Amino acid sequence: MGFGMSDSLPSIVRERFAALRAGNGNLVVMTGAGISAESGIPTFRGKEGYWVVDSREYQPEEMATHAMFSRQPDAVWSWYLYRRGVCHRATPNAGHGAVAELEHSLADRFRLLTQNVDGLHIRAGNSLERTYQIHGNIDYARCDRDCGQPIWPLGESLGIARARGDQLTDAERRQLCCPGCAGRARPHVLWFDEYYDETNYRYSSSIQAAETADVLLVVGTSGATNLPMQVGQEALRTGAFIVDVNPEPNPFSRLAESSGGVFLRGSSGAILPAIAELLHEA
Ligand code: NAD
Ligand code: ZN
Repeated sequence: MGFGMSDSLPSIVRERFAALRAGNGNLVVMTGAGISAESGIPTFRGKEGYWVVDSREYQPEEMATHAMFSRQPDAVWSWYLYRRGVCHRATPNAGHGAVAELEHSLADRFRLLTQNVDGLHIRAGNSLERTYQIHGNIDYARCDRDCGQPIWPLGESLGIARARGDQLTDAERRQLCCPGCAGRARPHVLWFDEYYDETNYRYSSSIQAAETADVLLVVGTSGATNLPMQVGQEALRTGAFIVDVNPEPNPFSRLAESSGGVFLRGSSGAILPAIAELLHEA
């Protein structure tokens, strides 16, 4: 598709984005694992989701918990280091590129809330100031004891070359310590048995962004987690125009359709560039 692909979008979408282009209103984009699927990073619902520990298969909902980390820290770290390698080998796709263009066009009238820990939005050009990584970032660690040490980036090559299922090595284990107290380091990600907060996950900033959104663009999110649903409800309450981009119907497509918004059924790599085009100078 070349220039002019935005013509295929419903007229109400073109009107709402024309208003944004004219200088009126705020856009909040909220993304989930679906936007990175076309970069080759599996979603949690994909068949590659499981992980084997002591010859038993675990689903992400069991692996991504503090309870599992307390019992099997090495197994949880080897799962994260493996996934981190997958993220590093991936490159941003056309969907990420379009989201970066949206920020470029709207500057401070733009916020991005992402559930993805893969860092691809930042690599595609979105700024850290306007991107709330509400489930953390797989490239960072923090102190499991919460000793006060700020989060830190993992060593550039730590675990990058590992194959699926590789055990944690002694050398890796030694690197996974808190620089502040020498206690155990943990991945800087939100686990299923934990709560959102502002310091680590920009919780109140995300709710605030939702309150002031005139357009909420939801992409590749199944609606299985709590904060995204709250953001959707908040946008509904304040009367924002909701657009959902997803190949499958989901709670956000129903929210959009029941509130005068639009469900654009399809892949983010195809649809988002057409949306970004709506903000280009005419
Ligand atoms: P999910 O795996 O629950 O759902 C993915 C959604 O993306 C589905 O609704 C699916 O229909 C849709 N989808 C698939 N292909 C798509 C495409 N090409 N374009 C648009 N949409 C597409 O993901 P979730 O809702 O983000 O929640 C799962 C949790 O797992 C999140 O908390 C997230 O932190 C974590 N996670 C992150 C990554 C990542 O960082 N890339 C990957 C897997 C899981
Ligand atoms: Zn510490």
